[in-house]
Amino acid sequence: MGTEPQLKLYNTLTREKVDFQPIDRENVRLYVCGPTVYDFAHIGNARPAIVFDVLFRLLRQVYGESHVTYARNITDVDDKINARALRDHPGLPLNDAIRLVTEKTETQYYQDTTALGCLEPTVQPRATDNIAEMIEIIEKLIARGHAYQAAGEVLFDTKSMADYGQLSKRNLDEQQAGARIAVDAHKKSPGDFVLWKLSAYNEPGWESPWGRGRPGWHIECSAMSGRYLGDVFDIHGGGLDLIFPHHENEIAQSRCAHGTDVMANVWMHNGFLQVEGRKMSKSEGNFVTIYELLQTEKLGGRTWPGAVLRLAMLMTHYREPIDFSVKRLEEAERLIAKWPAADAGDAAPDAAVLAALADDLNTVVAIQALHALAQAANADASILPVFAASAALLGLLPEKVEMDDAVVAEIDARVQARLELLKAKNFAEADKVRDALLAEGIQLKDGKDAATGERITTWEVKR
Ligand SMILES: [Zn+2]
Repeated sequence: MGTEPQLKLYNTLTREKVDFQPIDRENVRLYVCGPTVYDFAHIGNARPAIVFDVLFRLLRQVYGESHVTYARNITDVDDKINARALRDHPGLPLNDAIRLVTEKTETQYYQDTTALGCLEPTVQPRATDNIAEMIEIIEKLIARGHAYQAAGEVLFDTKSMADYGQLSKRNLDEQQAGARIAVDAHKKSPGDFVLWKLSAYNEPGWESPWGRGRPGWHIECSAMSGRYLGDVFDIHGGGLDLIFPHHENEIAQSRCAHGTDVMANVWMHNGFLQVEGRKMSKSEGNFVTIYELLQTEKLGGRTWPGAVLRLAMLMTHYREPIDFSVKRLEEAERLIAKWPAADAGDAAPDAAVLAALADDLNTVVAIQALHALAQAANADASILPVFAASAALLGLLPEKVEMDDAVVAEIDARVQARLELLKAKNFAEADKVRDALLAEGIQLKDGKDAATGERITTWEVKR
């Protein structure tokens, strides 16, 4: 591993690209803010999932697979979840309704990110499994004079932290200028934020020293990162929109509770995403979920393979804004169509691809190098293993589906039997054959033979 390039990362905290030095090479620790599970993830949510998956893969390459811990949380307590549970399951007790919403959304998020080629993080803690850890941090903050109780809430006292605002470079006076003083009359300063709030009888709640209540959003990430990665860890990531207030407040909580100078050494943020040149919004009609892109004809009148969505995302550097459009997706598809299918082996990735990624995840240059390698591999099969290892480093390995001849013959026979059923107008039985094949991952496509005009069926293995 001594031959690996020096990893450089842009640190939002210092606004400069720095040489990355892990606290412990044996256990490099990365935390990324995960989804609030009340609705399908949109394509903007896919960006951090993909970007930090590339970082995770790169860290595993440089430090070894078993020497990286990647934690991404699941926010399963939130007022948006309560509202969705009441809307979708009005007859059920709230806790049951909430569980249905969060379990369904969490499963969908897992399916979406898997289809986008993302590895599972090492740990995916749920907020509701970490309430005791949150209470413990809040107790520490109160004991150290950084938090206070007012009007049924426990609030962080921003004035108690001399250097609050380092990440976003905001100062408290700027924040006060825009705050709604009347609404926040119980706060010592307008920038103070909620750590804990009391729950009404019909809201989810947990017993605490301050009564039955629920945590604020920011405290969740301080508790979960602390539990799984320690008081100080290597890299914290998320979208640009999280810098303020979410990440600023995570830093305030963790540093003041643990008495440390930093929470994470490097803070990384991915840029904004637009769809077809406009900010994504339901009223603009350009709001699109990952599921819709993969499974429906919402964008461009067709479905898109996960690998095409992933490549389209990585064709822009993660810190730049991105315009997600049909044109871009078509461009990604044309590119990937020229790449050879290959098996992941144990070859080392190409030095140029690795060097580009090591330079603050320059996926744009890495993809150029990968494409050159693909062209070389198309002409010379001995280059295939290096191409495969390089594509895998980006999570973009075009899979080769190997099937036994006997299995292929068996599927052909079943497809032929279905055609006979269709000819005999036995549609119910024909549908049964089609559904059984689909359940095994075989997708049928009906069409006509161009020469004879006869009905034919082709099939493919769905990835
Ligand atoms: Zn967070």
